[in-house]
Amino acid sequence: MKRPSAPFFAPAEQGGATGQLPPEGGGERVGERVAAAQRQIAAAGSPATARLDAQVLLAHLLGVERSWLFACPELRLSPEQIAQYSALIARRCRHEPVAYLTGHREFYGLTLAVDSRVLIPRPETELLVEQVLQAATQAAPRSLTVADVGTGSGAIAVAVAAHAPNTFLYALDNSCEALAVARHNVAQLQLEARVRLVASDLLASLPDPADIVVANLPYVTSTDYPQLDRDVRDYEPPQALVAGPAGLDLIERLLAQLPAHCRAGCLVALEIGYNQGNAVQALVQSSLPGATQFVLRQDYQGHDRIVTFRL
Ligand code: GLN
Repeated sequence: MKRPSAPFFAPAEQGGATGQLPPEGGGERVGERVAAAQRQIAAAGSPATARLDAQVLLAHLLGVERSWLFACPELRLSPEQIAQYSALIARRCRHEPVAYLTGHREFYGLTLAVDSRVLIPRPETELLVEQVLQAATQAAPRSLTVADVGTGSGAIAVAVAAHAPNTFLYALDNSCEALAVARHNVAQLQLEARVRLVASDLLASLPDPADIVVANLPYVTSTDYPQLDRDVRDYEPPQALVAGPAGLDLIERLLAQLPAHCRAGCLVALEIGYNQGNAVQALVQSSLPGATQFVLRQDYQGHDRIVTFRL
């Protein structure tokens, strides 16, 4: 097994549930316990991520970096640690997402707090952030007002604010529960001066007109929803995922609100479902005849994912 170079023990940034290192004697070895947990998770229906999940959850519990587990497979867990680890593995075997079990997820190089009040940020959504950052960089040093509609955990808003100093963000959501999570993330990253949280039905309560509107709104169709992975369907908030029979109810309503809330030349960047490119293009053309520079981009899997245009 590849061992990380010294120093092999580095405390994790966010301590785990116990913050206790395993004692030297008694109990079960780290390597064996992780291997057993991997088998359990795989057998419960998540073979693709079983090994990583088992490692991430133990590292979280012990309050160490994952690399520490590779360096110390012989160390033994205390009975209390074994019990706590077994409880976490049992929850994972019931398909509870790892990010909810650890309470955080990496997004665009930032560590975000997440729980069942918000959608877990996805890697595809980083493509949406890239579009916004590109436009912000081009406009610098001019300061831009950006509206992140349906901010959830605040992932897009904080990623943009952290990487583009010439932006002021309004992070909007109709869920007060989601806004509480976003508020925590904004404070944690010390971005309060440039990210303001607003309870709003889409753009309805946006205080100032926007130079950029970015949104990862719910877009799953009501027929696809029951077929989603159990991890998603059984644990993530449905109101952050499902948007009517074609998955377009919220995107359609957002398009209708745009003219009243956008400055001239406003960039609009939307995340969409894997097969919604044509439908969204048709909606934009029919509801916003003044829209220009419509571009549809695919994600890493080659699925429709990001739409941008100017108003
Ligand atoms: N990409 C998410 C999923 O497939 C859906 C996110 C959304 O509806 N905005 O689970």
